[in-house]
Amino acid sequence: NSKIYVKDVNKTYHSIKGDVVAMQNVSINVLENEFISIVGPSGCGKSTLLRMIGGLDEATSGRIVIKDRDIIGPGADRGMVFQAYTLFPWMTVSDNIKYGLKLKKMPVEEQEKIVDKYLKIIKLEKFKNSYPKELSGGMKQRVAIARALANSPDVLLMDEPFSALDPQTKADMQLLMRQIWQVEKPTVIFVTHDIEEAVFLSTKIFVMTSRPGTIKKEVPVFLPYE
Ligand code: ADP
Ligand code: ADP
Repeated sequence: NSKIYVKDVNKTYHSIKGDVVAMQNVSINVLENEFISIVGPSGCGKSTLLRMIGGLDEATSGRIVIKDRDIIGPGADRGMVFQAYTLFPWMTVSDNIKYGLKLKKMPVEEQEKIVDKYLKIIKLEKFKNSYPKELSGGMKQRVAIARALANSPDVLLMDEPFSALDPQTKADMQLLMRQIWQVEKPTVIFVTHDIEEAVFLSTKIFVMTSRPGTIKKEVPVFLPYE
């Protein structure tokens, strides 16, 4: 009943300076509603792994399967949130969140319902018609999370989403993320170099070795708040 699996994935980057083996024989198994963190030293391949699951980069060998299908490129079944807020600057908060729903040609009233639901969750109801440049870093990241979740993705992929934020905002965002997971139970794969953050948020932590990275350990986390 695994929702996502990565099986024996290898990745080598070819460049004019030579080949870089970014990861070797990486396998992970993710169940529905799990909050997985991937931790490991800088350069071990965490971002590469997440980009490959997101379909933004191609594995050199191995398989990446989501709900019994091998992934081919990016798709709406995977929501992505990166360290740098990737909102569309020319769209309001509401239009940013709606983006994927419009592409799916969802009826407008339904789109509005979903936007309002997520604006409430991220506590930005008052900023519905604001533009990204009017928001702080933490607020932009909340919109990015709402936009990713609005599509009801099979998995939410997050790459160091809070590491550019100041400590207080980061702590607030971690708390919000934990609340979101407790209520909505999205399946999440979260990349971080911050072990405390991983312990706070995850149900399971995968520890990668230094480059070429591979999975060294799989640590279940006891969640005292459940
Ligand atoms: P992490 O996210 O764990 O810091 P990355 O996935 O960013 O690690 O990188 C893993 C390794 O692959 C590093 O040695 C990095 O320099 C290398 N790498 C990443 N992207 C590229 C690329 N586009 N071309 C060449 N090497 C890359
Ligand atoms: P992070 O450490 O936040 O995971 P990096 O700073 O390693 O990310 O990489 C940022 C971007 O630069 C990525 O798109 C990655 O593919 C690219 N990159 C990383 N290392 C290299 C490299 N050695 N050669 C070319 N591109 C790289």
